[in-house]
Amino acid sequence: MKTKVIAVVLAAGKGSRMHSKIQKQYLELLGRPIITYTLDSFESSHVDEIILVVGPDEIAFAREEIVKKYQYQKVSKVIAGGKERYDSVYLGLCAAEEGEGETCVLIQDGARAFLTPEQVNQSIEAVKEYKACVMAMPVKDTIKMVDDDNFAVDTPDRSRMWQVQTPQCFVLPEIREAYKKMIEAGDNTVTDDAMVMERYGNRRVKMIPGSYDNIKITTPEDLIVGEAILKKYFQNRK
Ligand code: C5P
Repeated sequence: MKTKVIAVVLAAGKGSRMHSKIQKQYLELLGRPIITYTLDSFESSHVDEIILVVGPDEIAFAREEIVKKYQYQKVSKVIAGGKERYDSVYLGLCAAEEGEGETCVLIQDGARAFLTPEQVNQSIEAVKEYKACVMAMPVKDTIKMVDDDNFAVDTPDRSRMWQVQTPQCFVLPEIREAYKKMIEAGDNTVTDDAMVMERYGNRRVKMIPGSYDNIKITTPEDLIVGEAILKKYFQNRK
């Protein structure tokens, strides 16, 4: 039976580190809102359905100015997110409907706009095989563990350290159950979806190599880097 694949695209953050009146996912890069680059990659991938999670006051705007204007056929729902990223993820997971066979979910930061459709498809193949995987890259820098006064206390083996990105991909009922347990436990310390699976689920999470271009737009400097990445991307596609 065919695996159903749903993407939950998160765009409900306030983006306060961007210091902009417009939320960062709606800021423009090369004349288009950042979120549209993210949605383009899912729209042209093998994903069946996209759930777009936006701020509670932005549903009508996102429906008109993003989904309708840019003609996304795969966006099935635009829903309101929550206070923290994990709240938005859980609301997205609860809005996702299972298919008849196995259903997988790809959780994506809307602000990670430089993911390619090929990488989305690689993530889909990987989640079918491993049942839990995240796109990530080996760290380039040495990482230090520090004490309260910022003195180094440990230097973990760099060859075993990866920086995680999104998509973070799971079997839908498994990650939803893990999230439910986390919310019931009142745990507010997780920083990514894999951590929820590691703490509250039963799957080992496989790292899938992505690209160092798969950055998250967070601060104004990222817009300059992002524009350069997009130009390179479009040049290579010509
Ligand atoms: O704030 P940060 O950049 O880590 O957010 C990562 C992604 O999660 C962004 O795409 C942001 O819009 C989303 N997010 C969300 N709901 C929140 C906080 C963040 O959908 N409450």
